[in-house]
Amino acid sequence: METINQILNDNYIGKEVKIHGWVYRVRSSSKLCFIVMRDYSNVIQTVGRLEDLNEEDFKSLSNLTIESSLEIAGTVNRDERAITGYELRIKSFKIFQRNENFPITRDQGEEFLLDNRHLWIRSREFNAILKIRSTIFKAFSEYFFKNGYYEVHPPMMVSTATEGGSTLFKVPFFGETAFLTQSSQFYLETFIFSLEKVFTVSPSFRAEKSRTWRHLTEYWHAEGEVAWIGNNEMMDIEEAMIKYIIKEVLENNRQELALLNRDISALEKSLEPFHRLTYSELIKKAQEFGLDIKYGDDLGADEERAIMIHFDKPVFVTHFPEELKTFYHRPDPQNPGYILCHDLLAPEGYGEIIGGGERIWSLEELRTRIQKAGLKEEDYYWYLDLRKYGSIPHAGFGLGLDRLCLWIMKQANIKDIIAFPRTIRRLRP
Ligand code: ATP
Ligand code: MG
Repeated sequence: METINQILNDNYIGKEVKIHGWVYRVRSSSKLCFIVMRDYSNVIQTVGRLEDLNEEDFKSLSNLTIESSLEIAGTVNRDERAITGYELRIKSFKIFQRNENFPITRDQGEEFLLDNRHLWIRSREFNAILKIRSTIFKAFSEYFFKNGYYEVHPPMMVSTATEGGSTLFKVPFFGETAFLTQSSQFYLETFIFSLEKVFTVSPSFRAEKSRTWRHLTEYWHAEGEVAWIGNNEMMDIEEAMIKYIIKEVLENNRQELALLNRDISALEKSLEPFHRLTYSELIKKAQEFGLDIKYGDDLGADEERAIMIHFDKPVFVTHFPEELKTFYHRPDPQNPGYILCHDLLAPEGYGEIIGGGERIWSLEELRTRIQKAGLKEEDYYWYLDLRKYGSIPHAGFGLGLDRLCLWIMKQANIKDIIAFPRTIRRLRP
């Protein structure tokens, strides 16, 4: 058995091969039947000729419908007119299932396609998206394994918030209330006292009320935490990691990027050094671009889109005012009122893909910030313990892998790059 991609090759001309897959397109006349077949790897035009087959077989071939499953044996020829440049002349075949009325046809609305996502993921476009996504996830972990990190496995059902109470999902938990995790950061911080350099890839859950093109309620969160480093070193690591992922995609997914019409040179641009601006500098830039944004604004999806449309490579934004960030971020001893953190904003209008920075490591400072945030110390007893027993400077980050996918593939909406999106209005399929 060959794969379709394998036989789209001059070495196979004249050879007898066998493929299996699904009908992508079909059209027939009285003596000829053209079936474009697809498998996971690609598509190829196959042709059934009445002269090669008996009448009954020819008829059942001609009657095949889109997405019917079958196995075909035949010989490969070069044919410039065919969809992928080669044609398979059918000698024999075996039908597994002839389909009745595959529901997805041309020109169907967005909601219909979302209701039928379980079927739509077969499309060539989604097949390409899933392949690139797979490379991105693999490359993320690979980068950290190659650099001596350990993968760790924090819990998904937790008792504390990390990013504020408004987006917490509650789950009944044997008489208590548990939450679905918003971020594994605090647990990752516990692991560094054992392993020093750790990462995890797991879902995070946010009951986001804001319905934007970049928010899911369940998304894939890639997080890392590193002992003994500060904000700048953390950014260096993230920059190298993002470049590694882009290189892997460029190396492994040319065919898929072409199918999505993704401009390769735009991605190559991000292999150059990223920009680094402070929050104040970014606001100034935004005003130079003529945007109605002022110092102190918490930038959301639309503001970041308007700013980042002006950039062709990623921008690290550092030194946010204290009021804009959560309690665990470390204030900058040199710049009172500002914190040693960063967001990484993706170019071409995509905006935030990473949030990271130094964590407070002084017990007193953390206590004060927890109180200021109106939280209860006892809920965070184990997090505070880390500052009691051998506390050290450290930094970390959280990368939204779906957002990275969205930018790398330059799609319009985050729902376009995850097979089964969960949003405020969607729980099925
Ligand atoms: P935003 O301001 O866009 O809501 P955030 O500041 O709440 O993002 P963080 O809490 O810093 O995000 O989470 C870390 C990363 O996780 C973000 O940089 C982003 O890439 C990703 N992320 C956060 N919320 C979502 C979401 N609802 N859907 C998809 N990815 C998300
Ligand atoms: Mg958010």
